[in-house]
Amino acid sequence: MNTKSVSRNTLGSLDFTLGKYENLCRAVADSSYMTVTLADYLAMRKPANGKYIIMRHDVDRMPERAVGTAEVERRHGIKATYYFRQQKGTYIPEIMDRIGAMKHEIGYHYETLDKSRGDREAARALFVRELAGFRRRYDVKTVCAHGNPLTRNDNKDIWKGSQFSELGLLGEAFLSLDFRQFAYFSDSGRTWLKTDSQKMPGKDSVSTAFDYIVPKSTDDVIRIIRWGSLPNICILTHPERWSADIAGYVSRYLLDLAFAWGKVAIHAYRRMSNNEIAVRN
Ligand SMILES: [Zn+2]
Repeated sequence: MNTKSVSRNTLGSLDFTLGKYENLCRAVADSSYMTVTLADYLAMRKPANGKYIIMRHDVDRMPERAVGTAEVERRHGIKATYYFRQQKGTYIPEIMDRIGAMKHEIGYHYETLDKSRGDREAARALFVRELAGFRRRYDVKTVCAHGNPLTRNDNKDIWKGSQFSELGLLGEAFLSLDFRQFAYFSDSGRTWLKTDSQKMPGKDSVSTAFDYIVPKSTDDVIRIIRWGSLPNICILTHPERWSADIAGYVSRYLLDLAFAWGKVAIHAYRRMSNNEIAVRN
């Protein structure tokens, strides 16, 4: 037995592997849903009464892993939407070009309010500059806020009082979808569950009309897609989490564990500091 087959066998029963992602894509491709990028969905003046799935990816780090999910999707005829941060090590045009060449949408994963330490004017100006940088290579039509659990900013606040069309955008991944029509499943925190500690309000949590449906695993998400009763679905995954080999799986698992405990600690700290403020008041 060679190492590759050991890895494959060992990873076979685990969740959040590239193999599991392939099962998800197969279910999507065989389902009654049509897949569409966010830009294509928003460009439809009046979306036909079809059922749509938007496969969204936030590429926070390790962009090379996004090539893996992009290839799996291409094999299954799925066009997905990839949002890249403007960060060293993540904004890598050679990788983004490969994903764009597979006809996936390339979008901008912005965090300018965090970068500007909460100064909304500065954040708007930085957004315009970074968007222009993306557009020198990519036809960016939609954007998506990054949520950093370590800051108290909501990067989406830069839109208060302004329109996406002012910047030639069709919309924003959190703000432009009608979540009365879309269920939303996210792998944030390495779980599909909507736990308060791992899906942080104002960061990566979304309330939808379908929050009573809670997948516990990717297999559950697959069952929900096969069931086919939801009108539309947006599935958010972070490609860095979906490993193709055991070494990548273990390192990402440990990082997710650290992030998960970090988020729990942040919640505890904020609860304590809020109590302190309440006591002082
Ligand atoms: Zn992000």
